[in-house]
Amino acid sequence: MTEEQTKIDLGAYMNQSIRNIMAKAYKNMLSNPREAKFAYRMQTLFQKSEKRRKKMQETEGLEVPPFLISSISTTCNLHCKGCYARSNGIAEDRDANRKETLSGEQWKDIFTEAADMGINFSLIAGGEPLMRKDILEHIAEVKDMIFPVFTNGTLIGPSYMEFFKKHLNMVPIISIEGTALGTDERRGMGVFKRAMQSMEMLKEEDLFFGTSITVTTENYRYVTSPEFIDKLRSYGCKIVFYVEYVPTEAGTEHLAFGDEHVTEMESLMAARRNAHADIIFLSFPGDEKALGGCLASGRGFFHIGPDGSAEPCPFSPFSDSNVATMGVRKALQSPLFRKIRAAKALGWEHTGGCTLFEHREEIEKMVV
Ligand code: SF4
Repeated sequence: MTEEQTKIDLGAYMNQSIRNIMAKAYKNMLSNPREAKFAYRMQTLFQKSEKRRKKMQETEGLEVPPFLISSISTTCNLHCKGCYARSNGIAEDRDANRKETLSGEQWKDIFTEAADMGINFSLIAGGEPLMRKDILEHIAEVKDMIFPVFTNGTLIGPSYMEFFKKHLNMVPIISIEGTALGTDERRGMGVFKRAMQSMEMLKEEDLFFGTSITVTTENYRYVTSPEFIDKLRSYGCKIVFYVEYVPTEAGTEHLAFGDEHVTEMESLMAARRNAHADIIFLSFPGDEKALGGCLASGRGFFHIGPDGSAEPCPFSPFSDSNVATMGVRKALQSPLFRKIRAAKALGWEHTGGCTLFEHREEIEKMVV
């Protein structure tokens, strides 16, 4: 990637994206007065946070990303094919091999500090986050943050419905693969039907929720088609995350995007944004060329592992710092993150979804 391509006012770009998302979310929530009030409060807070992040950049030279990704659970009730969390040791069945996990209190402290720094979003992942209600209940108390909770949707019942009704900052994002066949084929028989039941319950309560779809070279045209998005809208989905498949499992490289798929995906999403203006569409990692490179290592976000380890990204599980012991501010300046940014590794050439995954050997060598 040329020097010129990397020159983008990423802060302004991401602030505008957050404003657009929240404006659309607010419109979507008007039918539910409690949610509308919540969205309005968050919009006001985000304006203050933009200023706070800018001030830290100007006074301390500290780049504060607008969001985090946090994996809180090391367990999961499913065994999906190509699960990155299982292949890089986040999710584990055997107790003996499972990583230590932070307590709910520790996560609450981390997010309280993050919110004070002007970080108002953390995607919550795992393993399956709904296996750790003890942690989710603590996280929900950090009211200045919104937590999209990426779940397989099979554990939502009366108790979690009460939880999501009570805590509007906890936004369920239910993972599917597109069709019932595709979902059950990858995630297990009956999972699609169970995920749809969860969507129905959330829709019944007029709660704001969405879906996350792993996009591959095999399903991307279907999952961006008007028919499919109409279906999602009828299920009550208000936000769609497209997550590019990263071939963590050998022999699945053909499912990962090439540059031509990334370009086509961006134009398909633009068409959906025009035709389905009521739905929020986000892609991860998105059009890195437009963003001047990958957003990992604190440039746009960073990943916190179940034990508090500060990692560039969920697909780059390397770390030399721990957020629970150092805090968010210090972890942002970790030697590894600084080396990655100094090496301009976020702009390194790569095919498919993830720069750092493709260059994992070089990144691993940077860890002291
Ligand atoms: S639900 Fe998520 S964490 Fe669990 S096996 Fe499937 S992809 Fe992995």
